[in-house]
Amino acid sequence: MSLPPFELLRPDAVGSVVDLMRNLGSDAQFIAGGTDLVPSMKQGLFSPRVLIDLKGLRDLDFIRFDSDRGLEIGALTTISSLADSALVAREFPVLHEAAKTVASPLLRNMGTLGGNLCLDTRCLYYNQSEFWRGSLGGCIKKDGAICHVAPGSETCWAAFSGDTAPALLALQATVELVSPRGRREIPLGELYVNDGLVRLTKAADEILTAIRVPAANAGWSGTYRKLRIRQSIDYPLAGVAVVMRKRADGACAEARIGLTAVNPAPKLIAAAERLSGQAYDAALVDDVARESIRVGKPLKTSASTMEYRRHMIQVFVRRALTELWRGKH
Ligand SMILES: Cc1cc2nc3c(=O)[nH]c(=O)nc-3n(C[C@H](O)[C@H](O)[C@H](O)COP(=O)(O)OP(=O)(O)OC[C@H]3O[C@@H](n4cnc5c(N)ncnc54)[C@H](O)[C@@H]3O)c2cc1C
Ligand code: SF4
Repeated sequence: MSLPPFELLRPDAVGSVVDLMRNLGSDAQFIAGGTDLVPSMKQGLFSPRVLIDLKGLRDLDFIRFDSDRGLEIGALTTISSLADSALVAREFPVLHEAAKTVASPLLRNMGTLGGNLCLDTRCLYYNQSEFWRGSLGGCIKKDGAICHVAPGSETCWAAFSGDTAPALLALQATVELVSPRGRREIPLGELYVNDGLVRLTKAADEILTAIRVPAANAGWSGTYRKLRIRQSIDYPLAGVAVVMRKRADGACAEARIGLTAVNPAPKLIAAAERLSGQAYDAALVDDVARESIRVGKPLKTSASTMEYRRHMIQVFVRRALTELWRGKH
């Protein structure tokens, strides 16, 4: 499988990217580390006429923390830098754990946080060669009219399968987007659409420049649990990110749970709010774990079964909450 022809442009400032997008519009697509986009282009899933390489935007490769303003991460920061940051490990352990599980060391060295948050959704019937997909006549997401996962459905259920998004959702992150129309900042949750085809609210010409986490979320204990077939490299089949702030008496002051790889969008589990102000209670943990599968609804989009992935969401939520609530964190 070879790459389709394309023109490669290498701007070195956000302003130049904006100028290029003003003229190119939907003819162009961004590439950062290329670890997701290049294999997808080889599979014929994308064939942009122009690729705008963002790696020259050195100003967007940074991790800054201020106890008033919180954490700010440039979108071109590599996943390795995030996973290796002592600051992130100390103040935002859930993000550190999630970053450590992304792909493999080589892919983490190339892959960026911006690319990780803007990943295409994934499906067993979509992430295949053109020949493989063609033998089924394509599907709603690419070159066809039906969904092989949910026949009869008019929407696509491909799963968002990034690891850092649930951690950043649990940390109440916001993202900054820049385009020819200006700059805007939105809660990370508003970047996603629960439709595997549409997937992002971001316009094609908007570049994600920075990710911010409010200072109030620094120092919370956190953990990330991930189901995958090969522990050394695979995308998640289910991922659960949990953060918790505890009171001096050990009760839970506040907790949030983020889910990935089981819906077209990463999601927060509202039932986590029930933990606020509560002393450790195994029955309540079980309840919240059960509630989590009302939100996480895996379908036949991956190599594992939906029953097993649904079961593992509950197991992960239960284990993570128990560890954070009863542990010394
Ligand atoms: C074998 C394999 C295993 C993998 N396993 C995992 C895994 O376990 N977990 C996981 O989360 N990911 C996994 N990945 C995917 C990928 O390596 C990471 O998600 C990586 O962080 C993507 O970043 P990137 O910079 O390479 O993105 P790219 O491939 O460059 O881009 C991905 C998408 O984001 C867009 N984009 C990139 N940057 C921006 C920006 N700043 N603004 C707007 N749009 C942008 C691109 O246009 C493209 O649509 C895996 C990939 C492979 C090949
Ligand atoms: S969920 Fe359905 S429409 Fe979406 S990629 Fe899979 S088979 Fe195609």
